[in-house]
Amino acid sequence: MKTTSLKLHPVAVARQYATVIAQAGGNAKRAVAKSYFYFVEVRTDNGFIGWGEISDIEPDDLPKDADDYAELLSAFMRGRDPFAIQQMHRDFTEHFLVEESSLAKYTRCALDMAMYDLQGKATKQPIYNLLGGKVRNDVVISWVAYIRKELDLLRTEMREKVAQGFRAFKLKVGVDIELDEERVALAREVGGKEISIKVDANAGWSVAEAAKNIRRLNRFQLAGVETPVPRENPADIAAVRKQVDVPILEHVSTLEYGLALAKAGAVDVFNIATTGAGGIWPARQIVSLAQAADIGVLLGSTVELGPGTLAQLHLAAITPNLALPSDLIGPGMYTKHVLTERLLYQQGKLLVPSGPGLGGEIDTKQFAELAF
Ligand SMILES: [Mg+2]
Repeated sequence: MKTTSLKLHPVAVARQYATVIAQAGGNAKRAVAKSYFYFVEVRTDNGFIGWGEISDIEPDDLPKDADDYAELLSAFMRGRDPFAIQQMHRDFTEHFLVEESSLAKYTRCALDMAMYDLQGKATKQPIYNLLGGKVRNDVVISWVAYIRKELDLLRTEMREKVAQGFRAFKLKVGVDIELDEERVALAREVGGKEISIKVDANAGWSVAEAAKNIRRLNRFQLAGVETPVPRENPADIAAVRKQVDVPILEHVSTLEYGLALAKAGAVDVFNIATTGAGGIWPARQIVSLAQAADIGVLLGSTVELGPGTLAQLHLAAITPNLALPSDLIGPGMYTKHVLTERLLYQQGKLLVPSGPGLGGEIDTKQFAELAF
């Protein structure tokens, strides 16, 4: 089996509401109302089609000329054996695209996904069976409530999600501690004693602020705090961790960074995502590093559509050390969907897909409607 062609399908989808997060330095915020994707269709000489998703591309990172980009990727992928995933990653990172922007990394993830999809379709196996087999059938999801000024909006959102069965939440904080405290208090009040609440400060605090603010917010029992301070210096994160009684979480997208965090004793849990790591293959290596360092894992998200979420679910399926609820909220956040069978949350969980490859079928009719 050899790959013969590659096509890109542009898709733009609105979010249910504009989402805002903190950025390093505290006050800066970024609002996202619409997300941009490319779906990658890879065909083989024996008639299989593999799908990948370039997820939630920053508008500034979109390729200047989509046809050129498709041609570039097509030349890179032509003639490859879909089983030679490790070689694809080496070729990509060593000789192909410099990963200065999220686009290159998310593209590598999409190619990795498409190759695994082809492997699965050719062998009639779900992807998790090509990776050691699953150790779970479902994944607990934490609904991510973004920063919204009006507490009433958060109250309505929380009530709705609790009624739908969600028992875990992640609140974006880090812009205004007074507002953060009100929001965490409200989440605890609406969700009751049993729900799990993580907060993500998106590097909005200094070390001193983080220690103080985490203690303040932990009056409402936090399950974890993600990215309390800028992530460049693992010693800073470790300094925060020493001063508080709450698990510290950090995004890990490379083995090198994961190793640095582990050596510094900086975190309790790695937030790992197929998108952030550049694919299922590199992400699973980081999972193994976490296992060796006795560090837990949760699956993070750049907010994927259905196919990207399926890839993440295969990774979750083979991850033995999932320690906290995962952030796979794309299927609940977007207003349109590209799978023939939309992914639905069941009591706040997503089921591990069982069909061959990614385990979901793309509704290609959506491409015309959602093109940008
Ligand atoms: Mg985060």
